[in-house]
Amino acid sequence: MQHRTCSVDECGKKHNALGFCESHYTRFKKTGRATAKTAQERFDEKTKPQGECIVWTKSVNKDGYGVFYFKGSMKLAHGVAWTLSGREVPVGLMLDHECRNPPCVNVHHLRLLTNKQNGENRSVSSAANKSSGLRGVHWDKRRNRWQASVGHNGRIHRLGYFEDRLLAKLAVIAKRNELFTHNDADRVA
Ligand SMILES: [Zn+2]
Ligand SMILES: [Zn+2]
Repeated sequence: MQHRTCSVDECGKKHNALGFCESHYTRFKKTGRATAKTAQERFDEKTKPQGECIVWTKSVNKDGYGVFYFKGSMKLAHGVAWTLSGREVPVGLMLDHECRNPPCVNVHHLRLLTNKQNGENRSVSSAANKSSGLRGVHWDKRRNRWQASVGHNGRIHRLGYFEDRLLAKLAVIAKRNELFTHNDADRVA
């Protein structure tokens, strides 16, 4: 006969009370919950919605970016949000706030840029920046990917889905260069 075990995922210890093993039951009595908070939970309780943004409500650094203790050290909160969403920052790239709102931790307002691009963007107004950065690149919620497409002569060319917004944008630029003979605005090389 199989013994009843603790209801906490991956615990597997012998049942004690209320569906928990002895140690989880003890924690539940003390704190009202059987398990420690996850990093995501600790993170989320320090944020609040603000318009389209999700802003950090706790400590910020001198540049206005939220800071959060994560995996052994203080990290920038928007970077942690990016990591917690399962995304990565490839070597040579950095995160940039498209919404120009430093305490914002909404990952859909962040994009990957090279250090050089980031420097250039600081001198561009936010309105110009938003439109130039987004044309042809849309977030697909269902796929959790950036969709890239280019409209040309009444036809939509779908270029696929990308994990990184920057890669989607590069795909759009490459396709535009191919489709439009005179496309000086986007031509990069
Ligand atoms: Zn347990
Ligand atoms: Zn934002």
